[in-house]
Amino acid sequence: MENLNEGLVLHTASHLLHRAIAAISGVNEQELEYSYNEATPDNPPEVVVWERYEGGAGVSEVFENTLRTNPVAVYQELLGSILCPIDLAESSTWTSVEQLRAELAQRWCLPEDNELIIRVVEEAEAERQVQIQQQEQGEEERMMCQPPQGHDGCPACIHTTYCTERDNQNLSVSRMVGEAILCCFVQQVSREEQEVLSNQAIVQGFKQSHILSANPEQGLYDVMIF
Ligand SMILES: [Zn+2]
Ligand SMILES: [Zn+2]
Repeated sequence: MENLNEGLVLHTASHLLHRAIAAISGVNEQELEYSYNEATPDNPPEVVVWERYEGGAGVSEVFENTLRTNPVAVYQELLGSILCPIDLAESSTWTSVEQLRAELAQRWCLPEDNELIIRVVEEAEAERQVQIQQQEQGEEERMMCQPPQGHDGCPACIHTTYCTERDNQNLSVSRMVGEAILCCFVQQVSREEQEVLSNQAIVQGFKQSHILSANPEQGLYDVMIF
């Protein structure tokens, strides 16, 4: 296991942001660079993603605009980096795709027919079939995304081809830390709190609801906090 330190958290956050910005703005990850700075007495910690080439595609504008108009899309892209089909295929908590869909939808406050949920579940199911075949054929070498047999993170989730740590990527980022970061974005609040947050969002220029799921009878709302 990696040591849980500020560098690991910030590097993991960099990957989440780097991959989400590339996906949202439709540019290759290769065209973006990222870095992070640990907190100093004068400055808070910071994660930065920028375009490698001058006069690029204006990705920061596209990303900012999407964050304001469709925050759920941003949440989904961030989530895409931590929902790992390799890891899920190993999980013993599900026996059918319907079950896994329901489990993930509930865990991440998204509808079961959400496109990311459907895709990840299909990939996990396909990966499980491959694993079963490999086991039958007695193949030992298969990719794992779960300690202790594998690393905590793999190319199917939080890893990127363009990691600044190259060969040390396994120790520099963590899928589980990414999951914990994503958890911070989702909070369950009361109706009153939800109204306050909605008004704040409007002031900040958000144009669409940040409610992920709502249970009006109980007055509970799952909302995103960016
Ligand atoms: Zn993985
Ligand atoms: Zn990296």
